[in-house]
Amino acid sequence: PPAQQAPWLSGLNPAQREAVERLDGPVLVLAGAGTGKTRVLTTRIAHMIATGKAHPGEVLAVTFTNKAAREMRERVERLLGRPAAGMALGTFHSISARWLREHAELVGLKSSFTILDTDDQIRLLKQLIKAADIDEKRWPARMLAGLIDRWKNKALTPDRVPQGEGFNFADGKGLELYAQYQARLKVLNACDFGDLLLHMITIFQHHGDILTRYQNRYRRLLVDEYQDTNVAQYLWLRLLAQRPDDQPRNICCVGDDDQSIYGWRGAEVGNILRFESDFPGAHIVRLEQNYRSTGHILGAASSLIAANSGRLGKTLWTDAGNGDKITICGVWDALEEARTVGDRVETLQRSGHSLAEMAVLVRAGFQTREFEERMITLGIPYRVVGGPRFYERAEIRDALAYLRVLVQPDDDLAFERILNVPKRGLGPAAMQAINRLARLEDIPMSRAAAMLTDSEELRPQARRSLALFLEDFRRWRQDLDHLDHPTLTEQILEDSGYIEMWQKDKSPDAEGRLDNLREMVSAMRDFDTLPGFLEHISLVMENQEASGVEKLSIMTLHAAKGLEFDNVFLPGWEEGVFPNQRAIDEGGLESLEEERRLAYVGLTRAKKHAIILFAANRQIFGQWQSSLPSRFIEDLDAKHVDTLNAQGLYSGQEGSMASGAWGGFQGYDAEPARGPGWARARNRHADEGRSTQSDWGGGRAERIRKSRRNKPI
Ligand code: ATP
Ligand code: MG
Repeated sequence: PPAQQAPWLSGLNPAQREAVERLDGPVLVLAGAGTGKTRVLTTRIAHMIATGKAHPGEVLAVTFTNKAAREMRERVERLLGRPAAGMALGTFHSISARWLREHAELVGLKSSFTILDTDDQIRLLKQLIKAADIDEKRWPARMLAGLIDRWKNKALTPDRVPQGEGFNFADGKGLELYAQYQARLKVLNACDFGDLLLHMITIFQHHGDILTRYQNRYRRLLVDEYQDTNVAQYLWLRLLAQRPDDQPRNICCVGDDDQSIYGWRGAEVGNILRFESDFPGAHIVRLEQNYRSTGHILGAASSLIAANSGRLGKTLWTDAGNGDKITICGVWDALEEARTVGDRVETLQRSGHSLAEMAVLVRAGFQTREFEERMITLGIPYRVVGGPRFYERAEIRDALAYLRVLVQPDDDLAFERILNVPKRGLGPAAMQAINRLARLEDIPMSRAAAMLTDSEELRPQARRSLALFLEDFRRWRQDLDHLDHPTLTEQILEDSGYIEMWQKDKSPDAEGRLDNLREMVSAMRDFDTLPGFLEHISLVMENQEASGVEKLSIMTLHAAKGLEFDNVFLPGWEEGVFPNQRAIDEGGLESLEEERRLAYVGLTRAKKHAIILFAANRQIFGQWQSSLPSRFIEDLDAKHVDTLNAQGLYSGQEGSMASGAWGGFQGYDAEPARGPGWARARNRHADEGRSTQSDWGGGRAERIRKSRRNKPI
């Protein structure tokens, strides 16, 4: 049988083999998690190259992340037993960028064009907003960036945006600004991320000869994670997949509607459903055997996703045996959650499990902090995948800079960082003046700044602003005596306008940044003094990532797509965290179902063990709020689940208060928490989009009283 001649085919099940070997005409592999979709794609590439049906240079394979692309290339080359040079294998963006260099002049660019990062993009938009006399406080650049991004995701160039769209920015000026922005980019010989695809689409649409060239060159198209393609990516693909000669196209897309988790970014799961009509004669392959997870994990995941409506529906089975039930573990708070995970990681390590096969998957970035600190304490190497570590995030560095200047006015680096963040009219000119004087007199910048407040060197307005800035610090330093440091930190972040800056920021990541700041303030409560906290941070930051050693992965669920680990920890399964508060508040089925799909993605990353954790209490600004277990926990079929409180898992002595202080699962049927729920607090800035400063922290005195009352320990 051919399987023997072709080692790469051996071990595939019949459906997988079909998807690998059917090289003529469009193929859609529509199948659940862990059924080998990605494996089918890589084997298919290896198969057509090894059998001589295709040259590597004819292969165009698209995945979602650079990491996934790297892994795919490795897998193909391992199957082939040799390098496969010339394959176009990458993300939509990386492939487009390469192509665009060749045709840049067709969209008014030079091939040396720069790709703007978000910061550059925002700066440019700010200039345009200012020039148009629009109040940037009301209509922040980030909001415009978000709008433009959404248009680009839908493949809408300025001339294609439907009339009336964009009225939610500056009373209808959004579109005009978009057009100006695109024009500016050309002058600057630059483009943004979204343009990479959009420009290629434009080129394909206007230059038939070029499109034909690409169509003829790339005869073998493959797409992983097809459920998460947005309109622009879809259009890009369709153009390449069309054939003027009506020949059947060799395109193979794989995806899972249950794992569509980028709806919020414009991904359209409908693309999967349209495949058959888009590609006539399409052959649909369904894979049902799951090779990743043991029975209980799979059963639990299936019962979870069954709660969603409007699914295509699939059956999944495994012959791997039942394995262990998934564990649901109630803990007292985030600290105990991290300790529980840390303990478990150590236990697993002792019994021979590799850290590389363990992952902590969180819903939101702020959640990584507690785990990072625990791993550092335990000396467990870890990496945060897909983003900076907690204390390296920009907003945390800003906040820390305020605190450093507070306790150490001579800290020039910190001083420089925050002098004009948020903007207070102390731009480059002021900075330069301060710097010059500081160097001339050989004094710290803060002292030079103080001298400049009554010198003619700065404009009166800058002088006033600088004086206020320094006065703020004087006041905060006095407050050090009578306010506890977390409270003072809140006050500093509020008074300085730093919080407001992010509250007014309409970009999708602003909310996460505020969450991170709140998390930082919570973290401070573990330290008696501010210098103690700052010292802790320097030690944490010092803990450079060791290379060459196996590491525990900590990442968001979004970043975990397509990956797999023996042991998966899923913390924070609480209402308001996961599903997150926004999804709950919107109340729409779609956003809650997307959250549930995300939970499904998380659970299906596990090969052997999955532990779901939820805390009975979350601390926000030292205010303890009780929380409810996630509704997703209720979705899990009880027969696949072991329910433990932390005592069952947690072997530490000090804090095994879980069973006593918090009586098991009665929270399940309880009413949602009333009163000033922390979850609501977390979401305030999203409510109206316009919050007053005090909203951020709420009444401080009230909070302190409550924190005293509610503090469990
Ligand atoms: P996801 O939906 O999470 O992206 P997937 O469908 O892409 O999952 P893969 O990652 O390709 O699934 O495969 C899951 C695991 O199962 C991998 O470890 C893969 O090597 C293994 N696997 C796939 N097919 C087979 C097979 N026929 N025999 C043995 N192992 C297999
Ligand atoms: Mg996959």
